[in-house]
Amino acid sequence: MTFAKLGLIEPLLRALEHLKYTTPTPVQAAAIPAVLAGRDLMAAAQTGTGKTAGFALPLLQRLVMEGEKVASNSVRALVLVPTRELAEQVHANIVEYAEHLPLRTYAVYGGVSINPQMMKLRKGIDLLVATPGRLLDLFRQNAVKFNQLQALVLDEADRMLDLGFAEELRSIYAALPVTRQTLLFSATFSDEIRLMARQMLDDPLSVEVSPRNVAASSVKQWVVPVDKKRKPELFMHLLRKQRWKQVLVFAKTRNGVDALVERLQAQGVNADGIHGDRPQATRQRALDSFKAREIQILVATDVAARGLDIDDLPLVVNFDLPIVAEDYIHRIGRTGRAGNTGEAISLVCADEVNMLSAIEMLTRKTLPRHEEPDFVPEHRVPETDASGQVVKKPKKPKKPKQGSGKGSLGRWTDSGDTPAAAPQVKPVRKVPTFNTGPRKRKP
Ligand code: AMP
Repeated sequence: MTFAKLGLIEPLLRALEHLKYTTPTPVQAAAIPAVLAGRDLMAAAQTGTGKTAGFALPLLQRLVMEGEKVASNSVRALVLVPTRELAEQVHANIVEYAEHLPLRTYAVYGGVSINPQMMKLRKGIDLLVATPGRLLDLFRQNAVKFNQLQALVLDEADRMLDLGFAEELRSIYAALPVTRQTLLFSATFSDEIRLMARQMLDDPLSVEVSPRNVAASSVKQWVVPVDKKRKPELFMHLLRKQRWKQVLVFAKTRNGVDALVERLQAQGVNADGIHGDRPQATRQRALDSFKAREIQILVATDVAARGLDIDDLPLVVNFDLPIVAEDYIHRIGRTGRAGNTGEAISLVCADEVNMLSAIEMLTRKTLPRHEEPDFVPEHRVPETDASGQVVKKPKKPKKPKQGSGKGSLGRWTDSGDTPAAAPQVKPVRKVPTFNTGPRKRKP
């Protein structure tokens, strides 16, 4: 299969040749002809599989072939993404694909001054990449109009449709023309999201190029059980022992990010952090330096979990497991991209056992455990497996004192500590499906 056979025009083929994209990825092979034909689309694909080109190439082609001139402050195609970094990245890809096309493209997102964005929009934009909050601000200030809009893309659609963005999305939908092409791209789709998506799309083609909710097989995953308070020490130990090179580390909270960065810097490690409390310019600078390999370790909240494309990143470390199991797939999808292999190591403490179990159930994979000799936890992490079961080993019962009323119910054999009728294993608990409840908007 070639891009030419998919029906792409020569200026796009030239750009792809320059980028050394020789063969379409499966999601591209499925999506490009459908989008060119004007179909609505709902596409599930693993992270790093080329989704961006899957929607951007055919949309750019449609925009240029239809040739309509974009009016002042108008937009002809809109790509909504969940994070500012992703907006920058998707737009950077689009600029490369559109190199030989007479189209104007741009990206708008929050955390930076709105005025230059308003100025830029004045001339009209053929394809705009946006985060929902800033787009609404611009719309409310009449800086952007949708009457020429012909296509809407929701990238990382599950998060976009998630409750954290529901209100902004509803307001944006209300402002869009009813007749339009809508494309949903995401690595993971929960059933609720599928239902909502069906309500938004018109006779969509469903493209599923990978099994649902499965982490990329190119990523070798394992878990190190550890006591919570010893995680920083274990991290430093592994960093030195395994001679980690470039590492993207995920921590649960903003404070957790700052604390780990401080600790690493104090020990002379070249590290920086990104999270929602840091100014956008600082976030982008840290990310750019990491991509340029000027920083060895980037510690982040889930703001960096989705969509970011870091060339040849060898290792992702989950310092804390994510609360939402799907985010695990996104986090580890930052490595093992574009045909490379990668490694994902999770430092897991006993408190996180339910999250571990939810991840294993979602990915249908029991994560192998490797104990680190000096870090074997006092609080054991109960056994888990891909069926979603957490098996809590019984505490070794104390031998009841002779004659004491409590516990001397004749359960124990005379010889001592073998429980007879006592439960061997605490009831095996089915962990509910991963949390799809409201999430924080800006991790
Ligand atoms: P994405 O999933 O869109 O973030 O893409 C992941 C990476 O794969 C990016 O670095 C793209 O530039 C690259 N890529 C996308 N499509 C192709 C292709 N057909 N051939 C080679 N590389 C590609």
